[in-house]
Amino acid sequence: FLELQGVSANYGRQEVLTDVSVSIAKGEVVALIGPSGSGKSTLLRTLIGLNKPTRGTVRLAGETIGYDQAKSLRRAREQFAIVFQQYNLFQNMTALRNVAIAPQIVKKRPKAEVEAEAAKLLERVGLGAKLGAYPDELSGGQQQRVAIARALAQHPAILLLDEITAALDPELVTEVLDTIRGLAAEGMTMLVVSHEMAFVREVATRVIFMDRGRIVETGSPKDIFENPQTERLRDFTAKIL
Ligand code: ATP
Ligand code: MG
Repeated sequence: FLELQGVSANYGRQEVLTDVSVSIAKGEVVALIGPSGSGKSTLLRTLIGLNKPTRGTVRLAGETIGYDQAKSLRRAREQFAIVFQQYNLFQNMTALRNVAIAPQIVKKRPKAEVEAEAAKLLERVGLGAKLGAYPDELSGGQQQRVAIARALAQHPAILLLDEITAALDPELVTEVLDTIRGLAAEGMTMLVVSHEMAFVREVATRVIFMDRGRIVETGSPKDIFENPQTERLRDFTAKIL
């Protein structure tokens, strides 16, 4: 469904992603783990064209994404929704408006329709009682769930999540992870960068371990955590578990 073949990317002249090949099937929840600076965020940024790949191809639903062609890239970006650690909500808008604004403006859909859908999405992430709240009236975990609802409003084929619980207090992490767990159960395809190894173990269908811009190991959570094949993965899991 999503297929990367030999994808490389640079920051300036430095190559930070090297020869990444991976396929993700519909409904899979793939976790991306690895040390800081290993290229996890860069991989997500490259998929949505914030960095252009220097080599390799990305195919989504059978179509090769042309990162140099505005039209192809735009079409691809509609299929990917990304949520970052910093949720970047509009501070002057309610939760409901934050979720409804893009479909209304970008897709030019009727306000009443997108707001009804936004309300449903906010209910789905457990915020049915907070539709009228402004970001500064919400906890970090609640704001992060608004950001997830906003991503879902785009009807993405794949949801990309980059350490979305990293900035949250521990007691708020659970509610966000519960939301992701729910989406996984509904069959949402996701590529998730996470440091929450307990969560990765439980929810991921597959784990990709990256180091220095390369995929070093791929396997089931059981393979990765209980039977690492490389020294680098053994080092990494020894440090974090
Ligand atoms: P972390 O776990 O700390 O988020 P990561 O795996 O997401 O790390 P990336 O952010 O993808 O790592 O970084 C990969 C490499 O690219 C690193 O060597 C980093 O220094 C470099 N890099 C990242 N962002 C930039 C940037 N904006 N300009 C230049 N180099 C960058
Ligand atoms: Mg990162």
